[in-house]
Amino acid sequence: MIYADNAATTKLDKDAFVAMIPWLQDEFGNASQPYSFARKPKKAIAEARALIASCIGAEPGEIFFTSGGTESDNWAIMGSALGNLEKKTTVTSMIEHHAVLRTCEAIERLGYPVAYLDVTQDGIVTAEALESIITNRTRLVSVMYANNEIGSIQPIKKLAEIAHVHGAIFHTDAVQAIGHVPIDVKELGIDMLSASAHKFNGPKGIGFLYIRKGTCISPYANGGAQESGLRAGTENVAGIVGMATALKKNCDEMSDIADRLRKIEDHFLEILDQAHITYIRNGADNRIPGNVSVSIKDVSGEMLLHRLDLKGIAISTGSACDSVDTQISHVIQAIRVPAEYAEGTIRVSFGRENTETDADTIAKALVQILTK
Ligand code: PLP
Repeated sequence: MIYADNAATTKLDKDAFVAMIPWLQDEFGNASQPYSFARKPKKAIAEARALIASCIGAEPGEIFFTSGGTESDNWAIMGSALGNLEKKTTVTSMIEHHAVLRTCEAIERLGYPVAYLDVTQDGIVTAEALESIITNRTRLVSVMYANNEIGSIQPIKKLAEIAHVHGAIFHTDAVQAIGHVPIDVKELGIDMLSASAHKFNGPKGIGFLYIRKGTCISPYANGGAQESGLRAGTENVAGIVGMATALKKNCDEMSDIADRLRKIEDHFLEILDQAHITYIRNGADNRIPGNVSVSIKDVSGEMLLHRLDLKGIAISTGSACDSVDTQISHVIQAIRVPAEYAEGTIRVSFGRENTETDADTIAKALVQILTK
């Protein structure tokens, strides 16, 4: 099997797996208990928090563990709306993940207004677009760091600056970016950032929300005093340790992996070009390494996915999170891919385990299906 759907999830790193084992077996104590048996897990959580903070330029006390990207996004958006009595506006983009979009719909139902930003054909939220919509009645601006379907990386620093000029908080869903491109929250002016471990070779079911000190947000889960009383629930020690190990490793190896992935992408596209396949490559030039979203003329992406699957190749059409919904994704619609190409959209997302041989095999299999 060739796996090239790393934007959907990644393989758990071996070192992360090994680092998790003690916390699942011998050292299973509840970190919040006052006795000595809780000391080691408590220390492991503190160390993991500090390690994660150091990877993104944050303070350890600004990292709040969650169950993943979805929960972090829900918390950032719900928490900043519900944390204030005044129903000010949330601004977000049309190409956000459903974890953001559906949460925005939920706060709209509660009477909190939401404004949606259009994007360019490259999938970019421009400074001008934000300037034209933001007012002093905006509470939160939430724009994803990198898009999960087409990989476009947003001008985060500029967007955060604009949000701050208008007295708004800036949140970014960095689920696709963290561990893949360098991120320094202080340098970029980010107030809140969502992350999910399984997108950077960590375990599933664990993530975090970075909340800059002093940011006004209501608790996500009420109960115990974990996570400074903002997110109750017994800590997932193994998940937290595995996430920190995987993030540190990916950050240390980031530039080598990125260089390799760019070569793999180029090789894949060269084969399509040599076979004269008519396609549009989606996304901006500045995109997540390994993301290849192509819209191929007069073909069904769904058919390509299944035919490649029969050849033992796992890729995705548009967004994997949408795989039950065969309609053209909201992202492909928002970037205005022409109708004769839109349905033929596939996303091949190479990860650090992939080789140039994988790219070669996938591209040749695709050409064979398309030219038959
Ligand atoms: N945000 C983005 C951009 C994503 O790609 C995903 C997952 O695909 C999520 C949020 C949700 O993350 P999780 O499924 O880990 O909760």
